[in-house]
Amino acid sequence: MDGELISVGTEILLGNITNTNAVFLSEMCARLGISLYYHTVVGDNEGRLKETLKQACGRSKVVIVTGGLGPTEDDLTKETAASVLGYKLVEDAHTKKRIESFFKSYVKNNKNKKITENNWKQALVPKGAKVLDNHNGTAPGLIMEHSGGIVILLPGPPGEMKPMFQESVYPYLHKMQPEIIYSQMVKICGIGESQVEDDIKDLIKKQKNPTIAPYAKIGEVHLRVTARAKDEKEARKMCKPIVRELKARFGKNIYAAEEEKTLEDAVVELLASQNLTLAAAESCTGGMLAARIVNVPGASKVLKEGFVTYSDRAKRKRLLVKKATLAKEGAVSSKTAKEMAKGGCFTSGADVCISITGIAGPDGGSKEKPVGTVFMGCCYKGDVYVKEFHFTGNREKIREYTTVNALIFLRDTILQNFKKK
Ligand code: ATP
Ligand code: MG
Repeated sequence: MDGELISVGTEILLGNITNTNAVFLSEMCARLGISLYYHTVVGDNEGRLKETLKQACGRSKVVIVTGGLGPTEDDLTKETAASVLGYKLVEDAHTKKRIESFFKSYVKNNKNKKITENNWKQALVPKGAKVLDNHNGTAPGLIMEHSGGIVILLPGPPGEMKPMFQESVYPYLHKMQPEIIYSQMVKICGIGESQVEDDIKDLIKKQKNPTIAPYAKIGEVHLRVTARAKDEKEARKMCKPIVRELKARFGKNIYAAEEEKTLEDAVVELLASQNLTLAAAESCTGGMLAARIVNVPGASKVLKEGFVTYSDRAKRKRLLVKKATLAKEGAVSSKTAKEMAKGGCFTSGADVCISITGIAGPDGGSKEKPVGTVFMGCCYKGDVYVKEFHFTGNREKIREYTTVNALIFLRDTILQNFKKK
């Protein structure tokens, strides 16, 4: 079954609000097995909304519209849809009662507020449409059937739209569409996008159901395995052999097979499982690595301390980097990274310390050490490993890539030592 979304609101066109409704509804439709082919944003303008609706109804079975159901002059979605589909507007007694009781409690809690006359416009519904109660506001949702399919009108505020969708629209569409879509994520780090694609060329070539879709992220590649089946159990069964094959091909580079799990989640989990404590000694990332670790609930179990040692003096004072090392090799050098990691473990008492020193630019680069040169050290219970990187991009990108790669380096070091045991 195919469908499309229409988001109504001049605010979206002006960039005043982000179209989060489209994100939510797209995900829901994917879950329901509805293939969405178009997203349209149209302003609060009757003529253009009419044209958009006509076109959408002519080409898609399910058209979901959000916004413009409120009481004001510029809210004209319902009136326009009724006119396009030839529905008459009539007062709905049930909705009127619901709005009355909604206002009764509203006035009780907001003594100085008055209910204006235009609010009753929301009790008008297209005759014969299915009315969806709004438990978080006044405007009801509406489902209107026509010869070519259905049009679903939902309120714009996400706090009203989402619960209404989940409560009423999802079950309605699910009945129309017996197939469901289930997907599983496989998250890979430490291998580039083109190599991942090359490694699964054969799988992608013969894919039909399930499908494999690669998504490149900063320093990571995510593979989404998606199956279409009559129910979730069946779809899961179909995804299983593909996920197993991906695990066999990418091995330890896979850090998660769950949608929500982040790289920092995986790192914190790994540290905790090994009873290891961590310190971060950062220069050019200025605390970004520590911040990502602290993103994880329960990070306090593993993170002991984060150092932002931006100056040479701080590197010496906080991390015991030798004066001679800084003078001879420079702050951005393999030796400095090594001493930072070692010093970080020593002063914090952590089992593991990851250090970062680099040139994020735009200034500070040289012929030998161009912008993007980064050294990292990882001290694991006294042993220090050092890595050199050359990133490209602006200051922000270089710092972001550095942070992700520090997480990957940290994870690799723990896994390596884990194996040794
Ligand atoms: P209201 O009764 O509040 O007027 P409505 O159904 O008429 O609701 P709009 O007037 O179009 O909806 O939008 C109201 C508010 O809802 C917007 O100011 C915005 O905060 C939010 N909103 C609307 N559309 C979207 C969207 N596509 N994504 C995220 N938020 C949205
Ligand atoms: Mg409105």
